[in-house]
Amino acid sequence: MTETAVVVGGGLAGIAAALRLADAGRQVVLLESRPRLGGAAFSFRRGELSIDNGQHVFLRCCDSYRWLLQRLGAEDQIVLQRRLDIPVLRGDGRSARLSRLPGIPAPAHLSGALLRYSLLSPSDRLRAVRGALALRRLDPGDPELDDRRLGDFLREHGQNAATISALWAIIATATLNLSPDDASLALAAKVFRTGLLDNAAAADVGYSAVPLGEVHSVAARRALDAAGVEVLLGHRVQSIEPGATVHAHGRSGVRTWDTDTVVLAIPPEAALASTPALAQTSVARAAGLGAAPIVNVHVVYDRTVTELAFAAAVDSPVQWFFDRTAASGLQRGQYLAITVSAADDFVDVPSQTLIRRFVAGLSQLLPDAADAEVVDAFVTRERRATFRQAAGTAVMRPGCRSGLAGIWLAGSWTATGWPDTMESAVRSAITATDDALGLPSSRRGQVLAA
Ligand SMILES: Cc1cc2nc3c(=O)[nH]c(=O)nc-3n(C[C@H](O)[C@H](O)[C@H](O)COP(=O)(O)OP(=O)(O)OC[C@H]3O[C@@H](n4cnc5c(N)ncnc54)[C@H](O)[C@@H]3O)c2cc1C
Repeated sequence: MTETAVVVGGGLAGIAAALRLADAGRQVVLLESRPRLGGAAFSFRRGELSIDNGQHVFLRCCDSYRWLLQRLGAEDQIVLQRRLDIPVLRGDGRSARLSRLPGIPAPAHLSGALLRYSLLSPSDRLRAVRGALALRRLDPGDPELDDRRLGDFLREHGQNAATISALWAIIATATLNLSPDDASLALAAKVFRTGLLDNAAAADVGYSAVPLGEVHSVAARRALDAAGVEVLLGHRVQSIEPGATVHAHGRSGVRTWDTDTVVLAIPPEAALASTPALAQTSVARAAGLGAAPIVNVHVVYDRTVTELAFAAAVDSPVQWFFDRTAASGLQRGQYLAITVSAADDFVDVPSQTLIRRFVAGLSQLLPDAADAEVVDAFVTRERRATFRQAAGTAVMRPGCRSGLAGIWLAGSWTATGWPDTMESAVRSAITATDDALGLPSSRRGQVLAA
């Protein structure tokens, strides 16, 4: 048996797990099948530009992901709003802002924002406030909530088509990657309570000011190297025998580790494929979680068409767009990345059709875009962007104990209580490594000294 702890998967969960084990004094090897770190949140080159596979947003309340950013020394590569401020554009040229004023505590901070939200009629704004107060009474930890759907709850609490489409869906679809009519009420309650309603500062929006790969791959590699973690890229774990013996296949052949600590930070299907004995555990059920797609339409204009760093949209095929000009390295013109979550209806549509539709959508939202020339446009599709965060999925998400000796589970799909997000990935790693290290409950969830 070696002293080396083996972390399988170089996504955010694997990176965080490897760092925490190393920070606790363990020798660690991190095995990643792809030639890069970062997992589902990465960048690629297109000519001179660095393009993210999909815009990744977090909120101020994402403590664990923000810990990871700090641990990677990447805090200065991030934008985090001083105060929540989301411009919302409508296809008919009207716009509003979902923003909070300084010094107003929760939940009054949101009531104020809703009462000023001019894309709803005055009576619908009051309706929305009542909806927010109803959401605030929910306990995200109540297991019964997960059997219900957000859309049903909203209608039961007086919400109409206008408040759902112009308000609740903007946030729910983006954070749950599913329409309110399908999404789990428990996960929605988590988003709205933790993210918006319990603490005034929680929803301040954050995102990377540089290509995602600079943070999740380059900075991560630097931090892992400095912590003494042996990072083996291009190493696919082929089999893990309970006990635990890990076999990984890389360019130089098969390597084997006998260890008492394996953290499997890979998707459930990959965990089952590598470790057949998991079929007898709760991981088998997680294979039923399914997947939901995200499509991004990337548009480069010959000139600046908006001063907005990002915006949400209603009554438009565009859900959100982000200005990625500086982050991508574009020297002239403007590059907007459009994010389409819950993209089942778009994921198989030919690129040229999507580009036509979404460029027209941007022209409706941004008058200057209608006059500008599109110098490049392309589509990225992530068919399995997140698990399908539908009602009834909470029971399919296992905790960090795999049920097999020496093997722990991590990954955004495990039972963190959070939606499938970067925060969930890092949280899962903290829980799994705390348990693997046998930390007393008083020290669990804490950041270990570097
Ligand atoms: C387009 C898109 C947009 C998103 N937007 C957001 C957002 O705005 N905000 C947000 O918080 N989250 C967002 N997410 C979700 C977020 O990216 C994920 O929740 C998170 O990155 C998952 O991290 P993870 O480490 O759990 O898993 P993964 O990132 O899936 O990492 C698993 C790793 O394991 C590796 N692996 C698999 N099998 C093996 C094997 N046998 N051997 C070795 N390695 C293996 C994989 O190559 C991968 O690198 C988005 C995702 C996508 C795709």
